[in-house]
Amino acid sequence: MSSVINPVAICARGIRASLGQTEVLRGMDMALPAARWTSIVGPNGAGKSTLLKVLAGLLPYQGEVTLLGQSLATLPRRERARQLAWLGQSEVSGDDLTVWDVAMLGRLPHQALLGAPSAADHAAVEHALKATQAWDWRARTLGQLSGGERQRVLLARALAVQAQVLLMDEPLANLDPPHQADWLGLVRTLVKQGCTVVSVLHEISMALQADEMLVVAAGRVVHQGACIDAATHRALEHVFEGRIAIHALGAQWVALPIAPPV
Ligand code: ADP
Ligand code: MG
Repeated sequence: MSSVINPVAICARGIRASLGQTEVLRGMDMALPAARWTSIVGPNGAGKSTLLKVLAGLLPYQGEVTLLGQSLATLPRRERARQLAWLGQSEVSGDDLTVWDVAMLGRLPHQALLGAPSAADHAAVEHALKATQAWDWRARTLGQLSGGERQRVLLARALAVQAQVLLMDEPLANLDPPHQADWLGLVRTLVKQGCTVVSVLHEISMALQADEMLVVAAGRVVHQGACIDAATHRALEHVFEGRIAIHALGAQWVALPIAPPV
């Protein structure tokens, strides 16, 4: 049987990064497949957000990262910003900005320094706001939205970039179940279109819907494998100290918490 091996979108070798005096990433290797969805999971404080920031070029690091075959270290910032869109964890952005303007920020890497937004910029913003069902709020300010509504606007900003690679840190935070399901649909559409999606998720059952999973703990990669692999499930149960169990549910996998004995 022949198998198709996807090219690698993001490759990292020996990644180390420190915050203050603390070494948070302690030598990480990974090869994240292109046109696939990879979820990153691990306990609180494992270094997931730090890793995503390093991959996005937002934090200094030691080691090597390549993005779509180019070294991240030498990739011009503007080019990187066109290739890679970023949705941070609990991002604070200007409460006074309108939803439209926030989404338009995603177009900055495409715009001339002093130029007005082009028709393509307008179309990308409209498409992104409609995709996250934030279109009706376009004239409202971010300060007038709930946490989940705001999260959908920030997602629209990331989509408006129309980048090949999307990195999202806890994108489901504050989203109600229907909008979590919509996010899942969006990710599947993006991947079908050839985008690479990398998301840090605490919702393990959602994370298991991805193609690939990176399990991290204490600044190291403890496992990388397909979400359907038994070895991935065992790594997940292990990293969460046996406090979750992975079960088959039809064609899917779900994680259930195991309560301590009473
Ligand atoms: P995760 O996203 O996996 O929960 P983070 O990448 O945010 O973890 O943080 C990894 C570790 O780095 C945590 O133990 C956190 O306490 C620590 N950390 C975060 N910010 C700083 C900082 N400014 N200085 C020192 N340590 C930090
Ligand atoms: Mg985090």
